Amino acid sequence: MRKKKKIYVAGNWKMNLDLKEAEQFYAVFNRHYRSHPHVKVMIAPAFTHLYRMVYLYEDTDVEIMAQNMHWAAKGAYTGEVSAAMLKSVGVETVILGHSERRQYFCETDEILQKKVQRVIEENMTAVFCVGEKWEEREAGRHFQTVADQVKKALFSLHPEDWEEIVIAYEPVWAIGTGQTATPQQADEMHRHIREVIASKYGNQLAGRIPVLYGGSVKPENAAEIFAMENVDGALVGGASLIPEKFLDIIEAAKQYFD
Ligand code: PEP
Repeated sequence: MRKKKKIYVAGNWKMNLDLKEAEQFYAVFNRHYRSHPHVKVMIAPAFTHLYRMVYLYEDTDVEIMAQNMHWAAKGAYTGEVSAAMLKSVGVETVILGHSERRQYFCETDEILQKKVQRVIEENMTAVFCVGEKWEEREAGRHFQTVADQVKKALFSLHPEDWEEIVIAYEPVWAIGTGQTATPQQADEMHRHIREVIASKYGNQLAGRIPVLYGGSVKPENAAEIFAMENVDGALVGGASLIPEKFLDIIEAAKQYFD
């Protein structure tokens, strides 16, 4: 049985909450939040709020992360944000390859490979998202799809670079739909992801990589998802916008260790 050292609870706010709402979230969240040595909490607000959020959460162990960034160091890329810009406001972690980025903003595996490379060059951390569409699962191609996503974006990494990689398995059909993968479906895909990584980097490294599950995680299902052997936490969309719900998911993570 694989033993977990840490559970990640990471909120992805997407294009939700203006600055005032984000501050109101903080006011409620911070009143009730109690840290736990084995639970890592992260929140990804919009770019416009990063500076303020880093400041607000400074006295907590909550990490503020970005939802995206550009692959280039700097230059003529109107509307984009660089790794150095993120670091300059205290952000060290970035979500890459979210299915909404892949689907609506045409982010390919090749683009994502360049973004991951930039993360490593800048000594940052990536929460790298993978996941199949419903048609791919129905056609029995889900394991292959996810394996390809992992290989194309991450197999150019050196073994030591993997220290900076967190994977989030997010089946596209479960994101924002209320339809969660069963804990068993999540666990078997997470195991598969580890096997894919192990095929190039060995079992030890593969066993160490945090693999989070994302897709309609809420207080009602968090505990059973966290209980699965290969699940190291959750990337949470909708439920991370409501402080009480997000706090309940954090509680479920704490209970795993109690
Ligand atoms: C997400 O977009 O990362 C996500 C998992 O969303 P939700 O929890 O709303 O399904």
